[in-house]
Amino acid sequence: MHLAGMTEQSLIERGVKQAHARALVSWFAGRATRPRAADAFDDQLPRSEAVRDPDGTVRFAVHLDEKTIVETVLIEHASRRTVCLSSQAGCARGCVFCETGRLGLQRNLTAAEIVSQYAIVARWLNDRPRNVVFMGMGEPLDNLAEVLEAIEVLTERAGFAVPERRVTVSTVGIVPKMAELYARTKAQVAVSLHALEPPVRKALLPVARKWSLERLRETIATAPRTVLLQWTLIHGVNDAPQDADALARFCNGLDVRVNLIPLNPGPIPEQRAPPLEECRAFQKRLADAGVRAMLRMPHGQKVGGACGQLAGALRARASASAR
Ligand code: SF4
Repeated sequence: MHLAGMTEQSLIERGVKQAHARALVSWFAGRATRPRAADAFDDQLPRSEAVRDPDGTVRFAVHLDEKTIVETVLIEHASRRTVCLSSQAGCARGCVFCETGRLGLQRNLTAAEIVSQYAIVARWLNDRPRNVVFMGMGEPLDNLAEVLEAIEVLTERAGFAVPERRVTVSTVGIVPKMAELYARTKAQVAVSLHALEPPVRKALLPVARKWSLERLRETIATAPRTVLLQWTLIHGVNDAPQDADALARFCNGLDVRVNLIPLNPGPIPEQRAPPLEECRAFQKRLADAGVRAMLRMPHGQKVGGACGQLAGALRARASASAR
């Protein structure tokens, strides 16, 4: 059994005495000396390679097994450190602007593999970042049980002690799983919206063919906390003033905030971010309509761009050298 997947309670349920269970959890999080009880558990972290971007972002390629590489990203902004975790190797959802979507689904990660990514970053920093986002490879709601278990481990007070409200789970809108997500964690929920016109939305996000925008909106309306709406700005696709107006209408009456993210260079060369002044104008139009909207600059462009690119590059390098 790997300690990365264990809470104090789950250790106790496996017959470990409470004092030993707490000592194990604290030690694995780097907060105590190694207890003897650790001998009975696996605590090795997967091999990883770190690539640092000039903007301060650090991207880790984490080798979970011989065939499986996932990405974990450390984003440092002012004094805020955020770890971006992968929940799957690859992804079945196939969003057109996403490198991971092109890979297809390789497999779900276990809770231990998810927490191990955080532990790798924490050991590399010799610190415990307080913010965690599930925005790396994979759709977290397609692996919800393991993601929820990982959140329990990450938020354990005696362990990594990440505040639960500083965890964000980002979904492309897997409508039937959202009620369970709301009910079982106080983590923030982010929904990738990106477009509102049905043909554009369906073209960008194949998942939109399954669940209508109306159903997605109804599900967002039932959220117990503010939901973050993600809007990747793509030049000529969803950045026109009328797109901002439609988004403002969608937000009307909902407890939401909007994150505008200029597109990272992705798999389709013709798709690019709008010029910065147009991004700002889009944000202002939303703000004028009473919508809380932030413009976020994408991190990590120079080390490989959107989620999955570094892992993809490493896989390509590995298969080239195997030939
Ligand atoms: S954006 Fe997210 S849900 Fe869509 S293909 Fe990429 S990893 Fe999957």
